[in-house]
Amino acid sequence: MDATSGLFFEIYSMDDPPAQKTTASSSSGEEDFTVFLMELLIKLLLLFLTALKTTQGSDSCNEVKHGHGYPYLHEASSFSQAEEEGFDYIIVGGGTSGCPLAATLSRNYSVLVLERGGSPYGNPNISHMQNFHIGLSDTSPSAPSQPFISTDGVINTRARVLGGGTCINAGFYTRASQRYVKTVGWDAKLVNESYPWVEQRIVHWPEVAPWQAALRDGLLEAGVAPFNGYTYNHLYGTKIGGIIFDKDGFRHTAADLLAAGNNDNLKVLLHATVERIIFERRGNNVYWRRRRPTAVGVEFKDNSGKRHRALLNGGRQSEVILSAGAIGSPQLLQLSGVGPRKELKKLGIPVVIDNLHVGKGMADNPLNSIFMPTKKPVRQSLIQTVGITHPGVFIEASSGFSQSPNSIKCHHGIMSAEIGQLSTIPPGQRSLEAVQKYKREIKKNLPKEAFQGGFILEKISGPLSHGGLRLVNGDVHTPPVVTFNYFSHPEDLQRCVYGVRSIERVVQTKRFADLTVNDAYTMEALLNMSVQANVNLIPKHTNDTASVEQFCRDTVTTIWHYHGGCHIGKVVDGEYRVIGAARLRVVDGSTFNKSPGTNPQATVMMMGRYMGVKILRKRLGRAAGV
Ligand code: FAD
Repeated sequence: MDATSGLFFEIYSMDDPPAQKTTASSSSGEEDFTVFLMELLIKLLLLFLTALKTTQGSDSCNEVKHGHGYPYLHEASSFSQAEEEGFDYIIVGGGTSGCPLAATLSRNYSVLVLERGGSPYGNPNISHMQNFHIGLSDTSPSAPSQPFISTDGVINTRARVLGGGTCINAGFYTRASQRYVKTVGWDAKLVNESYPWVEQRIVHWPEVAPWQAALRDGLLEAGVAPFNGYTYNHLYGTKIGGIIFDKDGFRHTAADLLAAGNNDNLKVLLHATVERIIFERRGNNVYWRRRRPTAVGVEFKDNSGKRHRALLNGGRQSEVILSAGAIGSPQLLQLSGVGPRKELKKLGIPVVIDNLHVGKGMADNPLNSIFMPTKKPVRQSLIQTVGITHPGVFIEASSGFSQSPNSIKCHHGIMSAEIGQLSTIPPGQRSLEAVQKYKREIKKNLPKEAFQGGFILEKISGPLSHGGLRLVNGDVHTPPVVTFNYFSHPEDLQRCVYGVRSIERVVQTKRFADLTVNDAYTMEALLNMSVQANVNLIPKHTNDTASVEQFCRDTVTTIWHYHGGCHIGKVVDGEYRVIGAARLRVVDGSTFNKSPGTNPQATVMMMGRYMGVKILRKRLGRAAGV
């Protein structure tokens, strides 16, 4: 939906976030009117400018002119042989954890970041909240979002851009629970210093959108209480969390955190795809250490296919750090010979460290949603409200994509309301090609009303069901085969049923009944519509609405919170060092056993800062000054 149509489709009042609350202070009616007029003019001007800036339907992933504002950004092709040697830290992946980690380490040490994607700056699909769904539907080969379909039949995506997931995600920002921090074994004091470091730079309080206000009220009416107001903290009840979009809907990302680094020490190469870690076995004097493979650098390719090497300097504490995400990090370890011997040998990859656990134990939190058609179009919103229940089910919502005449003709996103129209295609044919065909031929003929409504989502914590990834060959460009085994653990299924029942209570509240076409839909009707609206490649059953368990299994999608593959104690130790190797760590979501909080990005960014500070303090003691 475009910015101007938002003006007409507004159907509920906005709530003020705490930091932006104003007090009535004008003394005369005349002053009030002048202020009102001024505010109106400014708002109209801003809307006009936003509309101008927004290019709905753009497939562009334009190269930006790096240099001026971002002196540390360079194209990988500009990397010369002379620069090859001499970095204190080489970070693979300039994503959600890689950027804060690099910024922090560069305070005192030389840091090279290698990112396979391009720059996020200047790409309207990344920058503008209202283009969220358009960004996801850009499946061109160098787009920031790289789609994949897990063997479970669920359409998913991974980031391929500087800033990683924070450039393509829904932007909701919320911390992990204190219990989570304790279980992982993090230093709580440093955790509580690291979250604010991120928050001060890129996190905002939302102006609560109408659909999100409705969810807040519906949750409270349905007993998901108390209301905890605006907070980043993980508290039972209902709350409004932070977002990485500012009040103009402009996205701030982990890439922005690089600005907190030391420009003299920081170099970020874009379109640098790391193919493997370079190990050497020669080391220091101790016998067992001599035999321990030591990371000394990496090999990467630039955009033109030219191969380069980047090496660590001779410092004993210099390191290669993988921050390539839950798919990228285990993939790269395996490509470099760290993984299950049998699997690596089959692919002809020389084994450096035999470790059965690399790429195993991966999980994705299943998402099930109810689509609710509404009387009037609802303004677009991504996640702002969440209900946190004791059984470990989180209720969230999104609304109103593609309601403008323009966007109906253009693109659609994997999780947008309009995707429901794909149900006209038989399940077996709901492939990425079908999505493209739908976009080209079918969508433009559908009535506008078909796109009217919003989703209420339930995500379960954990989860307990696990899968893993498997390499297809030794080429980093070939996506690994990923399986999540959704609902293979019975407790996950029980949680999903609880979540659907919780949504049922919410949609039956007066607040939601007032929004729907016939005053209230029965739950069966809503489940039926949601089965129809569902997009995954899982065959549907006739009892989908009679059995909530079946509904959960058949309509499972993703909220893109997949994690694991390099678990602590199995692939890395408590300091995130790769077990059996020297000078090699993994710092990203692949190390999580469970997804943190209701949504993970806050904790992934926090972790980057946290580990950066830990490393600096270990090397420099008090002199680290952080
Ligand atoms: P990433 O951020 O993915 O970083 C990995 C980086 O490594 C990428 O930039 C990638 O290009 C790069 N890379 C990979 N392989 C290589 C290689 N071989 N060479 C060089 N570079 C490489 N979380 C929330 O909290 N709130 C939300 O609202 C939310 N919504 C989401 C919506 C979507 C569509 C998605 C995809 C995710 C969402 N998430 C959300 C989840 C969150 O964004 C991710 O969990 C988080 O970004 C993962 O961070 P990471 O550092 O582990 O990986």
